[in-house]
Amino acid sequence: MEVRCAICGKLENIGKVHKDYKKMLANPQSVYICEMCNTKLQYQASKDNEIKKNA
Ligand SMILES: [Zn+2]
Repeated sequence: MEVRCAICGKLENIGKVHKDYKKMLANPQSVYICEMCNTKLQYQASKDNEIKKNA
């Protein structure tokens, strides 16, 4: 199944083993975020949490 990352716009072909496959199949309108952007987001979130903790 071909999906487009909502953040970087990269087209990806995900297979049945992909964690988002069922989600995208059930709702093709749902937002897909590629592995790379996911990692970036999680890194950003953990950094934000640290800033809040230290503030
Ligand atoms: Zn992306």
